[in-house]
Amino acid sequence: MSVVKRTSTNVLLDIALKNFYGAAEEMGLEEELVEILSHSDRKLAVSIPVIMDDGTTKVFNGFRIQHNSALGPNKGGLRFHPEVCMDECEALAMLMTWKCSLAGIPYGGGKGGVECNPLELSKGEKERITRGLAARIEPLVGAWTDVPAPDVNTGGQEMIWLMDTISKMRGHLEPAIFTGKPISLCGSKGRTQATGVGVATCAMELLKVVGKEVKGATVAVQGFGNVGTFTALTLHEHGAKIVAVSDITGAYYAPEGLDIPKAIAFANAHPKKLLEGFTQPGVKKLDGEELLFLPVDVLCPCALEGAINGKNGEKVQAKYIVEGANGPITPEGDEILSKKNVIIVPDFLANSGGVVGSYFEWCQDLGGFFWTEEEYLKRLHIIMTDNFKRVWDYASEKNVKMRRAAFMVAIQRVADAVRLRGTFL
Ligand code: NAD
Repeated sequence: MSVVKRTSTNVLLDIALKNFYGAAEEMGLEEELVEILSHSDRKLAVSIPVIMDDGTTKVFNGFRIQHNSALGPNKGGLRFHPEVCMDECEALAMLMTWKCSLAGIPYGGGKGGVECNPLELSKGEKERITRGLAARIEPLVGAWTDVPAPDVNTGGQEMIWLMDTISKMRGHLEPAIFTGKPISLCGSKGRTQATGVGVATCAMELLKVVGKEVKGATVAVQGFGNVGTFTALTLHEHGAKIVAVSDITGAYYAPEGLDIPKAIAFANAHPKKLLEGFTQPGVKKLDGEELLFLPVDVLCPCALEGAINGKNGEKVQAKYIVEGANGPITPEGDEILSKKNVIIVPDFLANSGGVVGSYFEWCQDLGGFFWTEEEYLKRLHIIMTDNFKRVWDYASEKNVKMRRAAFMVAIQRVADAVRLRGTFL
């Protein structure tokens, strides 16, 4: 390939670019498309002056990146974090382009946020930052242009402040600009469980294609928050044996299987939603990391990035890994697992139930007609099983790992859209 490859001093952006170039080369993508897709359509940097509670004025840096919109409006979160910067947002926006494309939904990728430390902000200060951000990104966002969502340290309340600010600026309600809103105000039933249900669906589809029964298959789930609980619960309900779950307090292991509804009820009753003190007959308490090394059929890392890496990858015994968290396996860990022939369902396929769920919320807001939870989960199941099959078939046909196949399928769909639409001067 004779294009001059972009690199970055930002680790996330550098990895995102390398993954893209690697897949593009393997699929023989034309140079023009490599050039176009390795750059972002639009990058906005804003300054947000905010009157703090002590009367002083502080200026915060905000960003919104639109990577590519060939398939539809840009979609992706807005995060509040001290390390938010343009390059990190660009990397995450690019990943959102591939994730939305792979999910088969009509969106491009976007990402943004504000460089701030939410732990040091009062609710009023957070509201003023959020509304200031809304006013400054207003020219870019819209139901058919760019549809942000919650991300690290933002949630339903921030989405409502954003929606309210823009609705007031435009003089009419704009519910479909932001997803992740509370059910009581233009949000959607089913969204809470969507990501975990999607992870579990991928795990079950994987067991099916490798000829293994879900009933009785042994599973360990790292992380017992939003993604981990619904992954464990869905698999439990389908007859899998969840032998271990973990959170920051450690791992809880029962070779005969855990009572997952009981564990969820226990964590929900804990003031910090933790499993601390959870027990049932046969439960052994282990160090959190030990969960990753248990002799199970399926391992679902649903907590943090980098959980499996160059240092501990060798100890993993699971035959199948379904990545619920974003980036739970480092490139070094991936290499080790690949040599051990572990089959890995990559994060941007496995946890795409979240963005598919956001798409459902957008559809409902645009139509002004809200679905039942049953309808929502039925549609989610159809999309997740189709997407899993598409990647599995492609990986088998091209004889590549699922991660590489997922990138190639995703890039191909965006490239087709760019080719069809052409470049407008
Ligand atoms: P969460 O905060 O609800 O839960 C995280 C859980 O991980 C908690 O139970 C926490 O105790 C546990 N944890 C943290 N460190 C741990 C450790 N060292 N060992 C074991 N457990 C540990 O977060 P979430 O929404 O469930 O997100 C989890 C991951 O999934 C993140 O990587 C997130 O980016 C990704 N993700 C989430 C969604 C979503 O819709 N929530 C969508 C896509 C991707």
